[in-house]
Formats: sequence, C-alpha cells, structure tokens
Amino acid sequence: MKITEPVRAFHLRFGSHDLVEPFKEFIEKVLAPKGINHLVLESNTSFVFESHPEVTGGTLTKQDAREIAAVCKNNGIRLIPLFQCLGHQGWGGAPNSILKAHPEFDETPYVPLDAEWPDIFCRSWCPQHPEVNQLVFELMDELIDAFCADAFHVGMDEVYEIADDNCPRCKGKDRAELFAKAVNDLHSHLVKKRGVEMFMWGDRLNDSEKLGYDQWEGDMFGTHKAIDLIPKDIVIMDWHYEKLAAYPSIANFIEKGFTVIPACWFKTAAAVDFLNESKRQAQELGLEDKLPGMVVTSWNGWDKESFERFINMTPAPKECDEKLEELEELYRTLSAITEKLNSRI
Ligand SMILES: [Zn+2]
Repeated sequence: MKITEPVRAFHLRFGSHDLVEPFKEFIEKVLAPKGINHLVLESNTSFVFESHPEVTGGTLTKQDAREIAAVCKNNGIRLIPLFQCLGHQGWGGAPNSILKAHPEFDETPYVPLDAEWPDIFCRSWCPQHPEVNQLVFELMDELIDAFCADAFHVGMDEVYEIADDNCPRCKGKDRAELFAKAVNDLHSHLVKKRGVEMFMWGDRLNDSEKLGYDQWEGDMFGTHKAIDLIPKDIVIMDWHYEKLAAYPSIANFIEKGFTVIPACWFKTAAAVDFLNESKRQAQELGLEDKLPGMVVTSWNGWDKESFERFINMTPAPKECDEKLEELEELYRTLSAITEKLNSRI
C-alpha cells in the first residue's frame, strides 16, 4: 500500500506492556480527535520476539501489538512500526540487546562499554556481516505481522559508526556505498518481498556543506551520496527541530524523486515555519503530491502520567511566544500542525 491521503503523523517510542491501556486511551482521546492518521510507533528491541528471544529488550507482546493495531484501525490510523537499523544500536558505548546477544555484528567491538560522545555516538551493526540481515529480517517480519502493518520505518538517522578502520569487512570502503547497501538490503526485504511501504529518516542523505546543515541534520562524514543509490519509493522523513533560515533538503528530496515528510519536534514556531517553508518549496516545484503532510515527533519518555496529562490537556494554549514546558509545547505543536493539515492551509 502507498500513501493515498494527506499524512498527519505522530511519532513516539513505545515498548511497555504495562502502558498499553493508557497508550490506547491516548490514541483514542488525543491522536484520533486531532486527526492523526499515521502513527510511527518506535518499538525497536522493546518487543518480546518469539523468533529471537535473546534480543528481546522490553515487554511489549504480540497480543499488545494486536490490541494497539486494532485501536489504530478503528480510528482510521495507519500504524508504522519503527525499528532502528544500522545505527543507534545502543547509547554511547553501551550496546543494545541485539549487540549484547550478537556481539559478532558490532561494527566497533573494540570501543569500551562506557565510552561517550565524542568518542562514540552510538554503536552500529556491520552492514557487511553475512548473517546480520537474516536476523534483522526475522525481527521485522515479527513486527509486521504483530502490528498487521503495511508500512515499516527503518530509522537510520545519525549513523556515525560505518566503514570503521578496524572492521575487517568494511575497512577502506566508501561510506555512502555501505549506507546504500544497508538501505537496499532492507528495501529488498520490506518492499520487494513483504510488499510494505518503507520509511526512513533523511539526515544521512543531506549534504551538509551544500545544504547548510550541521553534522546532525545533515552529513559531513561521507554517507550523503547514498541519496543517488537507493530506490525512490522510500518515503523520507526529514527532521529539523529548530527554526532555520532555510530547509533546502525538502526541495532536494523532491527533485530527486522522493516523497518527503517533514518531521518537527515540540517547538511550535519552528514546526509551523518548517511546514510553511516545505509547502512553499513543493508548490514552487509544482510537486505538492510529493509532500503529503508532516510528522510530529516526541522524544520524551512516555509514562502513565504523561499520557494522562495529554488526555486532560485541553484546550491548547495558543500563543506561540508563551514559555511552556516541553510536554505542553508538544501538545500545542500537535494542535497547530494538525489544524493546519486538517484545513489544508
Ligand atoms: Zn563492517
């Protein structure tokens, strides 16, 4: 299935069996009334995997996934599971449950467990390890089936550990080619074999020097040329959380033939500016259909209290220059962006 309607998307990290009830209530009482019709649910390894119990890092069960999927379906929301691929396999030097169970997949096994930025950002798996894809595809298959999903988000933001000089398979290889190989391997499985629509973050494909971004929102490290080496039916979520003078990656993705969905965070003025600018770029190119909507991301740790706060947080404060704490401003951003997208302004 492909995107067929305006996208009003929300993203959150979620992987707790104990929070399923408040989460379902949040979907029904907050997201659905706001008109959200795509939910990017980043569960990563927080799912109880039956095919590979050794990589289970959380408590979300198959039954939980089915229940969440049913609530989404009943509310007209397309659920997109997100599973971080390649990079973000842990935090700093600490490995996640995949690399703990399978240290042979670690691109930088020599990095100490307590290493921190700037020595390491996050560990990656090695895209050239001959067995890594089989494991990852089986984990993805479980998530697709459990969530009854017709779309899948592979993450792939902020990948800095790639083509490491100490990796016997990757040493000396071109970073863009290795990044593209990882994307193409995932595309083969997800799109060609499973028939789901593939989503990914856009930052590693942005040429920072040409487009004027920093090392987080764009690439200064050698991966961006992968933009010309991957299929154009991958939907790109391009995140920019601060108000910038320009966001030229939006037009760049569209001109390259991609569908692109700008991704904002909690800062309302930045989010509104980013959406307006993105629409202007798509209109100038005469390719508005390549910009189907926007995704509001959240990076707070969701718990029972924060779900309940959102459920009870009405009406949204309107003034953009008001000083608010992050959750309140996130709610205001969700309201402002969905209002604009609902009315197609
Ligand atoms: Zn490697």
